[in-house]
Amino acid sequence: MPIRFILFDLDETLYPASNGLMNLVRDRIIEYIMLRLGVSRREAEEYRLRYFMEYGATLGGLYHEHGVDVRDYMEFVHDVPHSDHIDPNPELDAMLGRLSPAKVIFTNADRSHAQRVLSALRVTPGHFNCIFDYEAAGCCPKPELEAYRRILDYLDAEGAECILVEDNLRNLAPAKRVFGIHTVLVDSDGTRRIRGGPEYAADWVIRDIRELEGLLEQVYGRAGR
Ligand SMILES: [Mg+2]
Repeated sequence: MPIRFILFDLDETLYPASNGLMNLVRDRIIEYIMLRLGVSRREAEEYRLRYFMEYGATLGGLYHEHGVDVRDYMEFVHDVPHSDHIDPNPELDAMLGRLSPAKVIFTNADRSHAQRVLSALRVTPGHFNCIFDYEAAGCCPKPELEAYRRILDYLDAEGAECILVEDNLRNLAPAKRVFGIHTVLVDSDGTRRIRGGPEYAADWVIRDIRELEGLLEQVYGRAGR
């Protein structure tokens, strides 16, 4: 089956984990929990971890168990200086321009954060057909099955027509096993294979997003690139 769509996770996939942006976001999440739930820093850290493990995204637990406002949360936690941490990536921009399948951002964050990341990378927004964010997924974060169901429905695509490119093995596992989506792990700091789950969730592993074009050429030949 030909590949019609490449689904790109956003954070620590389109830019390397080492740039520290997500550490800032994690700090903002803890601050948010302290403020909105009125708990200590230690308790907030426990909530963050527990909900991340249980729901796939901390917001999942905060939304379902505490009824927090999704937009309020997204705005607060992503209020970080994107351009101080993300370098422009002209090679990525050029590669996206050459890849022939339709390209989609598939993120547990929100559209506005995705737009700020793309702008800091100086990636042409028009390379992407759409940004499928947390709200588009019906507030079901990856790895909840509903998130994958919703994006496939929205694109009117079969799993086998899609490739998911992600830094989190936990999000690749159901994509591959349940929906038959082809999976590429971006392991930019060399730790993702063991951190997130079983290695076989990834069909292929790359260290840098810019290796994607070479990989697709190897697997599918020039036509499928
Ligand atoms: Mg990610």
